[in-house]
Amino acid sequence: MQQIYPLEIHEESSDYPTRQDFFVSKAGDEKGFGLFTRRLFQKGEQMARFTGEVLNEIKLHTLQISPSKHLYDPHFVGYLLHSCDPNVELNMKTLTMRALKDIAPGEALTMDYASTEDVLYRQFACACKARKCRQWITGRLETINREGRDYLNSLSSRCTLVFAHEHA
Ligand SMILES: [Zn+2]
Repeated sequence: MQQIYPLEIHEESSDYPTRQDFFVSKAGDEKGFGLFTRRLFQKGEQMARFTGEVLNEIKLHTLQISPSKHLYDPHFVGYLLHSCDPNVELNMKTLTMRALKDIAPGEALTMDYASTEDVLYRQFACACKARKCRQWITGRLETINREGRDYLNSLSSRCTLVFAHEHA
């Protein structure tokens, strides 16, 4: 089976992800690359074990293990996109990924970045189309920065304009 991690890493455990189950591909728009499945996963299923380099700083694509430790995995979980209604969950103690929903082959895998991160590498606008989309994503201990407040204000003024127009 073709492994996603380089040889020296995947030899440590047979639970690491394979190319039979997952692939990395362009996710379209400006999102860059994303992580996708090749097979069905059932809600609640443990999908894979993951690993990486432990750093003491936040970088793009790191995931928080503890307030001072961050896992850098440029092969697998580093490609997870954000959704406010995600289909996977990461356990940063056991370093395992679990399905939160039934996931069909070819689906993009998404997590909620605020579920692991106190502070994000950078805050960003979200248009994930979830009913409860937070629209601006921060780490769980962060407040919305100035750019985010401006963005949210511009969204609400745009809605007001549309509303005013519809009822004119
Ligand atoms: Zn969202």
